[in-house]
Amino acid sequence: MFDLVVVGEGGGPDETNLSAYLFKPAAGPWEEGIVALEAGSGQGTVQKLLQRDPHLFNTPDQPSARTKPYSAAEIYSLVRCFLISHAHLDHVNSLVLSAGSLGGPRKRLCGAKQTLADLESVFADRIWPNLASWNEDDDDHKLLYTLLDMNDAYELLIPNVSVRSFPVSHGHNIGGNYDSTAFFIRYDPTGLEFLFFGDLEPDTLSHSPQTINVWRAAAPKIPTSLSTIFIECSWPSSRSDDTLYGHLKPEHLVHELEVLATEVVKVRNAAQVSGSSARPVRKRQRMNNPPVASPPGDVRGALDGVRVFVIHCKDTLDGAHDRPNQTLIIEQIKALLEPKELGIEILAARQGMRIRI
Ligand SMILES: [Zn+2]
Ligand SMILES: [Zn+2]
Repeated sequence: MFDLVVVGEGGGPDETNLSAYLFKPAAGPWEEGIVALEAGSGQGTVQKLLQRDPHLFNTPDQPSARTKPYSAAEIYSLVRCFLISHAHLDHVNSLVLSAGSLGGPRKRLCGAKQTLADLESVFADRIWPNLASWNEDDDDHKLLYTLLDMNDAYELLIPNVSVRSFPVSHGHNIGGNYDSTAFFIRYDPTGLEFLFFGDLEPDTLSHSPQTINVWRAAAPKIPTSLSTIFIECSWPSSRSDDTLYGHLKPEHLVHELEVLATEVVKVRNAAQVSGSSARPVRKRQRMNNPPVASPPGDVRGALDGVRVFVIHCKDTLDGAHDRPNQTLIIEQIKALLEPKELGIEILAARQGMRIRI
């Protein structure tokens, strides 16, 4: 469905590995248009990733794919749209720094109302030059603000790729609740989707729980048309609930996945019950084959066929080799999930990975 390259997946403070993903439909080449999903890290990081793996953006399983390596500037010139979950710096750093020096046609900057308002305060000729506008007729070098609707509709990002957006709670500030966004990203020709969460806090601790709305929208699609989820887990288990700052730790992520599993079971049970009563079944058969509804609360196997990429793990930068915090967080999630037998697969997103969704 999609080819996705992980430009950065950390949650700070390492400025060389900040939330940023580039993807395109797997059926076509990068030249047909790229969506930049978050833009914490950017061209400089891609340049370094290409020094390590020059063929990161070459897709050898496509007969028409080019074999010559791409440059970072070339890849970013092919971006048609930036899709941003919220305007925290670790999600927009490279978007701001590179605005004005990106090649290629004009690029849209898609986000919720508050996200775009926050970015307007950055592109206001003080912190950074005014390199974005609402005017369709402005110069190509200016990003084009594009407001995302939060009303159930799918909106076209690039040809064949649409997004449906949901607000999720990401803590609060002096102005009140602070929202981030979750995106259902759909390949329109097949209807297959993946789900990507910007930063979020647990519904159980939120003043304004909203993640449940995302799980309810996801449940009927699992796993047939939705089997890949990207979701954060910023902290390890040792972090106290009052110092999460709008993020998840393993206990909360596992609880959120249980909520999803419960919603999936509800949908399946409802479908079985209505399906069995709708069918014209002879009386005796119906007696022999009562609706096989799972007992409420039994969520074992509910998420079979679903894989979750854990993102946004915070770094410690204490000189230890590799990413010990990320490894620890993933181990803790797996240990908590194991006895629950949800059937879900937990994976670490790593910088420089190419993922086929
Ligand atoms: Zn973040
Ligand atoms: Zn954030």
